Amino acid sequence: MTTTHHPTEATLLEYFSGTLDEGRRIVVAAHLEMCASCRRLLSAMETMAGDHLVSTPPEPLAQGAFERTMARLDAAAASPAKSHPTAHDLPVKVRALESYELGPWRWIGPGVYWRGVVLPEKGTSRVFLLRAAPGTHLPQHTHEGTELTVILKGAFRHEGGRFGAGDCDDADDSVEHSPIVEDGEECICLVAMEGTIRLRSLLGRLIQPLVRL
Ligand SMILES: [Zn+2]
Repeated sequence: MTTTHHPTEATLLEYFSGTLDEGRRIVVAAHLEMCASCRRLLSAMETMAGDHLVSTPPEPLAQGAFERTMARLDAAAASPAKSHPTAHDLPVKVRALESYELGPWRWIGPGVYWRGVVLPEKGTSRVFLLRAAPGTHLPQHTHEGTELTVILKGAFRHEGGRFGAGDCDDADDSVEHSPIVEDGEECICLVAMEGTIRLRSLLGRLIQPLVRL
């Protein structure tokens, strides 16, 4: 799979250092499953962190980043992800979602369905899946926080280019966009959204209560 859009370096660094909130971490992990180039970057960061440990006199690491990474790796190795039945009806296998409960698909507008991902604790971002029929115009919107999206299936286009399966759209609050799903195939995205979204259309106002934190 060839991906052309990736999380920003700042987002990847936060993922690496363990400071990313759970919702955004799930989306980055889903992107990593589909993006060899970001996996290589992460692995280079791990090597650099290891070299740093070897070349530094023994003293506690200020940020504890390496320990957190190792703890995460240990935890991942020790506990294979629990599979939740509802994660298996997705047309695409997403390991990052397998230990989470998913809600039912809910119709939110013509050709558009929304499905919440249940997080054990309320974090700073809300995570959900969006499924939209080919040719759907998604509501034009802007937001007060960040919106991190990974495309699981299909493709959409907006002012920032074309986003196909595996691509990541890492948008901050300066972005205002109106995605259009490509013809021929439905599009399924996994989204972590911070803050409040401001939607401009009727469809947008239908989505608003669902995506508001
Ligand atoms: Zn990538």
